[in-house]
Amino acid sequence: MTVVVYDTKPYDREHLATAAHADIDWRFQEFRLNADTASTAEGALAVCAFVNDEIDAPCLERLAEMGVKLIAMRSAGFNNVDLDAAKKAGITVCRVPAYSPNAVAEHAIGLLLTLNRKIHRAYNRVREQNFSLNGLVGFDLAGRTVGVVGTGKIGRIAAQICCGFGMTVLASDTQEDPDWARVNGVRYVRLPELFSESDIITLHAPLLLETYHLIKARTIAQMKRGVTIVNTSRGKLIDTGALIEGLKSGQIGGVALDVYEEEEGVFFEDHSGEVLQDDELARLLSFPNVLVTSHQAFLTEEALNEIARVTAANIRRFAAGEGLLDGTAV
Ligand code: NAD
Repeated sequence: MTVVVYDTKPYDREHLATAAHADIDWRFQEFRLNADTASTAEGALAVCAFVNDEIDAPCLERLAEMGVKLIAMRSAGFNNVDLDAAKKAGITVCRVPAYSPNAVAEHAIGLLLTLNRKIHRAYNRVREQNFSLNGLVGFDLAGRTVGVVGTGKIGRIAAQICCGFGMTVLASDTQEDPDWARVNGVRYVRLPELFSESDIITLHAPLLLETYHLIKARTIAQMKRGVTIVNTSRGKLIDTGALIEGLKSGQIGGVALDVYEEEEGVFFEDHSGEVLQDDELARLLSFPNVLVTSHQAFLTEEALNEIARVTAANIRRFAAGEGLLDGTAV
């Protein structure tokens, strides 16, 4: 059976090819899926899409005309799919709800360590044979207070790693798990207390109406002076303009971002050699105490294997008329 894979990167190709043997004929495309490119799915039972594909009503109508019956998202998120239009077009949508929470939590802590100990700057210095330590003073994480916003799959692992460092861990979640907190020595508090007590704040809540711009001028003002903020969740949890003002005034001491409010169309691609049009991103990149990675927290062997395994299994099950794997239907 033929499956067209859009927005394919070399690592997708490698892991999907390993997850399916002769039964799935992957047709890898580097361009994105949208209404203009959907005709390339002709003859395919399924398409495999990613977070920046534009799967709106015109695209879905075109896919249905091409005979496509399944969209297998190789991501947890599916906010780029018009689900009503998919239903109307008779197309089933599935996703990979959880691949490796460890991957994201470990990246968040990696960013924190890099930023705090200024490893990004030290790396560049020694390559220039500048072995000076001036300006590289960090702080011990042991004894500091970290505030974990969102204690789902990823937030819990991040919190537990911080416990291992000997940090005091505060947490905030709309659905608290007191047993988990007790066992791990984590204390649930309301957000204002988390903001005012934490030396470091790490975001692991999903993007919802209530979490949009959770970090903004008003909440930044509640934080300790010199606070470090880590975001590996979704860019829109932070008001970038307010973040920049906080950095300029010194209210915020450091920021590590794996996600950015306006990352669409910028992250995941090589734009070197081009003029960066996003002034806020350009300003962020100019601070010595800001570290940005391009939405790569999920990018481990384990996570890619799991994404490929679940995607291939769902396509096989769908083709055989069996139900999708538990929790993967959208
Ligand atoms: P999850 O659903 O297991 O956990 C999310 C937690 O946030 C839940 O416990 C939920 O109750 C809590 N929450 C909801 N609203 C909240 C609020 N207003 N305040 C505090 N907590 C709130 O999700 P997860 O698997 O842990 O993923 C967390 C987020 O990480 C995802 O939503 C996604 O945006 C992001 N993510 C990023 C990457 C990456 O590569 N950077 C990869 C995967 C996931």
